[in-house]
Amino acid sequence: MKFKKSQKLYNKGLVNLVGAVNSPVRAFSSVGGNPLFIKKAKGSTITDVDGNEYVDLVLSYGPMILGHRHKKVEKAAKKALKNGYSFGASTENEIKLAKIVCDAFPGMDKVRFVNSGTEAVLSGIRLARAFTGKDKIIKFSGCYHGHQDALLVAAGSGLATLSLPGSKGVPEGAVKNTLIAEYNNLESVKAHFEKFDDIAGVIIEPVGGNMGVVIPQNDFLKDLKELAHKNGAVLIADEVMTGFRSKFGGAQEVLGVEADITCLGKVIGGGFPVGAYGARNEIMENVAPLGGMYQAGTLSGNPIAMAGGISTLTELKKQNPYDKFEEIGSIIEVILLETAKKYNIDLSVNRFGSMLNPFFTKTKVTNFEEAQTSDTEKFAVFFWEMIKNGVFLPPSQFEAWFLSSALKDKDIKKIADATDKAMQKVAD
Ligand code: PLP
Repeated sequence: MKFKKSQKLYNKGLVNLVGAVNSPVRAFSSVGGNPLFIKKAKGSTITDVDGNEYVDLVLSYGPMILGHRHKKVEKAAKKALKNGYSFGASTENEIKLAKIVCDAFPGMDKVRFVNSGTEAVLSGIRLARAFTGKDKIIKFSGCYHGHQDALLVAAGSGLATLSLPGSKGVPEGAVKNTLIAEYNNLESVKAHFEKFDDIAGVIIEPVGGNMGVVIPQNDFLKDLKELAHKNGAVLIADEVMTGFRSKFGGAQEVLGVEADITCLGKVIGGGFPVGAYGARNEIMENVAPLGGMYQAGTLSGNPIAMAGGISTLTELKKQNPYDKFEEIGSIIEVILLETAKKYNIDLSVNRFGSMLNPFFTKTKVTNFEEAQTSDTEKFAVFFWEMIKNGVFLPPSQFEAWFLSSALKDKDIKKIADATDKAMQKVAD
């Protein structure tokens, strides 16, 4: 497999782009080598500029749940394009997408669309503060909630990959109201509530996806909600990754917990830039123009993005691929575990429906600290061998792999063959 054209573009890109990427997770810092440049994608497959074809388990870090260029999504986006790109005024499709979203999440009466997951969460946090009149927010170590200042501490994948504890440029004042707790450890949350009486909310990825996949144990989420309410705080579910992916109603549907405020992104736009935050009326009425919490956006509710979102979610509901995801996900999980066993490699695999990833450790991973016991050098060897054998993975031990409903039997076979070669290489 040759990467000559990617290499050339990378060198060219270094001149006017930072590290030749527009998001640091796209750099190959932790696996060595340089990022691949992509030419096109269709269905389950992505193709780089050198013509190498891969089964895509990155899926743009989650949004492409139907696979690439689904014909209904493409048709809807093209149709919207013909009517104009942006109006700075309301359109009917915003109402349609809002209804689909509110119907999927029973805890949401109203929703506000924004342009990214980061915006969704920073607005959701502001809303928690506006609603409760309190300032502090509890977040969990290893959870990533976008790159807003207040939550850019102990924030998982991108930072863990680059071994950064937080980010330069974030003033102390911006994080002084951020409290850190340990995932799956209710006592660590209780300790904060015992110490502070001005906690507005607890924000969590209901299934962690940014320290690798980490699943809430037992009734962690239910207990968390109870604890928050007992202390006059709200539960904020960051379902940017899990929304419409774990189930149509997100991880909340699977886990049977209704959050007070829900933040969405990724799948909701089907590859177009859409984020959203929503809650019951009592909470959303705080948002301008109904209430005093200001939040706005020139391109929010963009017509092309709304069309992309409506068509993606409509098709997703029709396909209802969640049983299929469970089936394919468990096949890949078994492939990983059995191949690792064959080559005598310590491996722990976490999976929640269509999100999974292997950790090169024998430790069962239930929090960020345990995730970090992974041997990232082994992951790097594994990663490159998977690439060379036609499987596109996120270039980090701490990112989730995603499945799309476009995956075919031949793709699973390709993943199995590549895994065998990659584990063999790790064992060498
Ligand atoms: N929240 C979670 C759980 C995420 O995984 C991400 C991105 O990966 C974000 C928020 C930020 O979303 P965006 O990258 O669209 O700003």
